[in-house]
Amino acid sequence: MATTPREALPPGATIGILGNGQLGRMAAMAAAALGYRCHVYGPEADAPAAQVTSLATVAPYDDRAALKRFADAVDVVTFEFENVPARTAEFLAARVPARPRPEVLHVCQNRLREKDFCLAAGVKTAPYEEITDARNLADAVARLGRPCILKTAELGYDGKGQTRIERTTDLTRVWADQARAAATVGLVLEGFVDFRQEISVIVARGLDGARQTYVPVENQHTAHILDQTIVPARVSPRVADRAEGIARHLAEDIDLVGLLAIEMFVTGDDEVLVNELARRPHNSGHWTLDACVTSQFEQFIRAVAGLPLGATDRLADAVMTNILGADVAEAQGALADPQVKLHLYGKTEARPGRKMGHTTRLIRRGD
Ligand code: AMP
Repeated sequence: MATTPREALPPGATIGILGNGQLGRMAAMAAAALGYRCHVYGPEADAPAAQVTSLATVAPYDDRAALKRFADAVDVVTFEFENVPARTAEFLAARVPARPRPEVLHVCQNRLREKDFCLAAGVKTAPYEEITDARNLADAVARLGRPCILKTAELGYDGKGQTRIERTTDLTRVWADQARAAATVGLVLEGFVDFRQEISVIVARGLDGARQTYVPVENQHTAHILDQTIVPARVSPRVADRAEGIARHLAEDIDLVGLLAIEMFVTGDDEVLVNELARRPHNSGHWTLDACVTSQFEQFIRAVAGLPLGATDRLADAVMTNILGADVAEAQGALADPQVKLHLYGKTEARPGRKMGHTTRLIRRGD
């Protein structure tokens, strides 16, 4: 008979999740299926994850007293929120096992550190330079060529904090707009990649060092927000292998315990370049809930809990579509198609562009 790994959390143990959005919600539901409790922590009341867990702390991310009570109440802590302050992660990690380690968070929340990490690991990204003043902006634009993209190194998501520099763009104005960001969160200039496709790979790495990847998927964005994920990505087997290889390599190199989602560009000549890393479940992995042996959320919980990873086999092809803002009002209409699975996140305020839920349409081979 197989034995339970010695370091595995026993059923009934409590997993602390910092962040209480939809990723925490779906992770908590997977944890419940494995017999765990989750305690979620975040600043908003009635948040998506808090609705499905019996334990929730509503407090700011820098509230030391609340963080201490949270650490005392959980057996392990993980993170679903991208921009966890470094000091918060370190404070928790000093009191309770933190998976992944705060160092992984540190790398993955800053574009410059991410790219430096990839470079050191021998993995290609778009050409990039750190921008610190008007002079080196002009020099770097001359080196990388136009068009190019200036991004804030931190706190940017869904295209926020990005400026595309075209042939006629006035750099003095760009610098005037971005000087403050340079001083606070840092700036990185990226050469423009004329990509054919945007793909992503999610890799899990367990406490025992075992790794599992999901098949590369293709991501289509509208107004910088993920609109659809097409499974599998329409790339050659060689590109798919390379993309999964990159994911495995980065997970090992950063000594990950948990999940790493890697967004990549595929160029016209089949080069694979890393764009961004996320060290948590990812929007482009939501399809795994309905179309894989083990979903990304279950895999995340297995890794964090010290359980063996599950198989990532795909049971069907799929198309995942995000439900944004006011579209949530019509979302149930998608269920007219019996091959569609609907996931709503319980958010009450349907702000424009806000991720309210998603659908996954399962496509059996031959459909
Ligand atoms: P990001 O926030 O880095 O994921 O960027 C948002 C979107 O902008 C990406 O999904 C791409 O469509 C586009 N983009 C970002 N960086 C580049 C680049 N270096 N070259 C071309 N397009 C890019």
